[in-house]
Amino acid sequence: MELYSMTGSQLAGLLAGKEVSPQDIVSSLSRRAAAKEDQVRAYVRFEGGLESIPTEGGAEGKSPLSGLPVSVKDNICTRYFSTECCSRILSGYKPPYDATVVSRLKKAGASIISVKTNMDEFAFGSSTENSCFGPSRNPWDRRCVPGGSSGGSAAAVAADEAVFALGSDTGGSIRQPASFCGVVGLKPTYGRVSRYGLVAFASSLDQIGPITKDVRDSAMLLNVIAGYDPKDSTSVNEPVPDYTACLGRPVKGMRIGVPKEYMVEGIDSQVKESLLRALEEFRRLGAVCEEVSLPHTEFAVPVYYIIATAEASSNLARFDGVRYGFRAADAESLHDMFSRTRGEGFGKEAKRRIILGTFALSHGYYDAYYLRALKVRTLIKNDFDKVFSGFDCIVTPTSPTPAFRLGEKIGDPLKMYLSDICTISVNLAGIPAISLPCGFTGEGLPVGMQIMAGHFKEETIFRLAYAYEQAVSAREKRRPEL
Ligand code: GLN
Repeated sequence: MELYSMTGSQLAGLLAGKEVSPQDIVSSLSRRAAAKEDQVRAYVRFEGGLESIPTEGGAEGKSPLSGLPVSVKDNICTRYFSTECCSRILSGYKPPYDATVVSRLKKAGASIISVKTNMDEFAFGSSTENSCFGPSRNPWDRRCVPGGSSGGSAAAVAADEAVFALGSDTGGSIRQPASFCGVVGLKPTYGRVSRYGLVAFASSLDQIGPITKDVRDSAMLLNVIAGYDPKDSTSVNEPVPDYTACLGRPVKGMRIGVPKEYMVEGIDSQVKESLLRALEEFRRLGAVCEEVSLPHTEFAVPVYYIIATAEASSNLARFDGVRYGFRAADAESLHDMFSRTRGEGFGKEAKRRIILGTFALSHGYYDAYYLRALKVRTLIKNDFDKVFSGFDCIVTPTSPTPAFRLGEKIGDPLKMYLSDICTISVNLAGIPAISLPCGFTGEGLPVGMQIMAGHFKEETIFRLAYAYEQAVSAREKRRPEL
């Protein structure tokens, strides 16, 4: 088996036994990427190979991630290395500091790959088609999108061009691409992982999380990136357990809720079948599955697109041509410079969101849209609290469909927005959720299932996901043909 196709925990074993060196692993990934990048395009600013960023001062502590490379989404700051959010307006931007997740990884002895993974501009989208560098491809079928916005991270892991990757998830951007690419993606509880150094999209929804080949790797990565950070006032000062310790614990007697609002018309029949089979497997493992209701689910998409665009319009105000990246040439006045920079620097979807968000926040409309959306957000959160008072987990599809074709939804923003229907409520409620593979369609595209749990119950999620993975996906193990 080639090094590039191994999981992080397998590679950690080889490193511990001194059978390979960290450089062997990066070289193997680099060769793989050199051979496959023109088909996948998971990385941006890729120039023929992968290298890791030299660690400053060496690793302080030995951890299971020591010597392992991590690929990072283009909206997570890496000191002195380009971080452009796949937007023209940030072209050439090299942050003077590392995101907290990056510095934590470095401290744990992990290395960071110096080219970043592709994404929709500022994480606005579900397909990577909004990237100023052009879309990534789905390694399972290159006519299809890898999902988004962390599509590059998911495609890199699925194509064996990365061992681990970091993504960000505001409305599904880790979980939906993970499901489209047949890998594992976790959105942690809001506040579990520091957002310091994540270029903000919607600050009350954004979380950074791992995209990995299996559940154990996801737990390993979360162990390092989770925890309180004084530089992020929304990070929570709760102890971080060892997330790998719960793997392998029995799930007998666990109570799983299956919300009826997620199994409705519009869910692809093959996705539905895969999920029903997964529920059967949970029952075989001794869990109890029962139908539950999350009655405000139908409001999640409209509420999200008001809150997320409102926050985005405010967060993106700082990109004015003065402080970061791109500045339009030949402006006649300061005002002209602002408007030209923003006009030329932002792509179409970014402009659409800035306009929508500014409108929702504007005088006279604030109460009718933004304030009302916040109230409905609370109702959505209350729905979850009610269910979690009697259940350990909630299981749903991650996405209503498998990966769609490039170009299929890009001309119709509403269609694109609706592809997040299964993932958005989780961000509005601030709870954690994972996507893991649960089968394939007849056309050979992966299908993902989503497991949610209450705030800070990542361990419960990992326990159930791992039990399922051990029981099923190991026997269904397939790899994309590239
Ligand atoms: N696809 C959703 C959107 O376009 C979610 C994006 C995200 O999670 N960053 O907003």
